[in-house]
Amino acid sequence: MVGLLTAMLVLLSQGDAAGEATSTDPLCTRWITETRVLEEPELVKHTVAPKERVSQIAIRYGVTREHIVELNKLKHSRVSLRKGRTIKVEATRIPPPREEITYTVQDGEDWFAVAIKHRVASNDLRSWNWRTRGKPLTAGQEISVWIDPGRPRTVNCKRGPAPPPLEFRDDATSYGRPQYGRLKNGIRLPESPLWTRRPTGLNVLWASSHTIENLEKAFRTLRVDVGYEGEIMIGSISRQRGGRFPPHKSHRTGLDIDIRLPLVPGVPPNTYPRPDAVDWPALWELIEALVDTGEVSMIFFDWRLQKHLYAAAREEGVTEDELRPILHWPRREHKWEAIVRHSHGHKGHIHVRFLCGVNEARCGPSRAHTLLRRGWIEPHPSGKESREGATARREQWRKEGRYRELSDEDGDEDEGE
Ligand SMILES: [Zn+2]
Repeated sequence: MVGLLTAMLVLLSQGDAAGEATSTDPLCTRWITETRVLEEPELVKHTVAPKERVSQIAIRYGVTREHIVELNKLKHSRVSLRKGRTIKVEATRIPPPREEITYTVQDGEDWFAVAIKHRVASNDLRSWNWRTRGKPLTAGQEISVWIDPGRPRTVNCKRGPAPPPLEFRDDATSYGRPQYGRLKNGIRLPESPLWTRRPTGLNVLWASSHTIENLEKAFRTLRVDVGYEGEIMIGSISRQRGGRFPPHKSHRTGLDIDIRLPLVPGVPPNTYPRPDAVDWPALWELIEALVDTGEVSMIFFDWRLQKHLYAAAREEGVTEDELRPILHWPRREHKWEAIVRHSHGHKGHIHVRFLCGVNEARCGPSRAHTLLRRGWIEPHPSGKESREGATARREQWRKEGRYRELSDEDGDEDEGE
């Protein structure tokens, strides 16, 4: 009985790793039950696994890269570490160690598929199996995989508590286009446990009712259903009456929102979000929750960085087909077909643009226009034209590349930050 009580107390004292694991994901359960969260930092010795990087070691023990560099007198944080080397860390948590397993390749699996299955990087997977010289895999082949049950799991492990509902007016409306319009009766983004408002941005966090309603919906999914507890900062929306908001080209009508990328637990909140420090599964879940509202027009995010999102989504079980209308990566062409698309300068944050609300008659480009352009609704067949005829016309229109003219006219593509 006493043993059980102690075990429960230990579980309770685990802070953000505590909570009932409701997931069927074994890595998730392992991370929660086997990670020891320390009240005081503790000096531990870490044995470097093959190809392990300083940033990865920092993440597993909840410390910064700089801390490891300093403590071990390394030249810089990108120095490559020999496997088996011992590294000192003043850890804030102690997760289970990496494990080498032998995996038998299944029919139809390539390097990427095996990497996704074990939540490792495919480059790393190739180098652990350097004897294969990166040749295509064949079914039945045995390869070695260093799984990492110590990689923090922050999503889909448990359900989160329901935050109190937000109360706000319903008469804040967008007028005109994001690049030219303004905001009427704007509402300042309410304070909420759902998100963090950028402290220096309070005078540029004015939004339309439709925007706040759907932002709340998405964040509620992220907090409750996905169980994500990390901080997510909302950077900029619009000024109180909308209008010009340099250096942004858009952000004028209360429906463009800049959201900083979520960071893995333990990385200080003001760190610039380098790829190693970004919590990609959390960002993917946020994007999925936003898209699931059905009210997002597009999301701007650097094309190269989208590959991390792609891997995170696939690791969560999303298929290639399901991803195609959402992520532009890995394609280079057909940018307009995906909701998440490249735009210069969007590396440390995503820029979410909501659709105009159903009651926002003067908001532009109109809701119907945007839905039609995305191919989310069928164009109205006019006169004798059949529904099939309309679809064929749209295909033809795409093939001829006429979308380019329309895009320029819309100003979608020359989106400034
Ligand atoms: Zn922006």
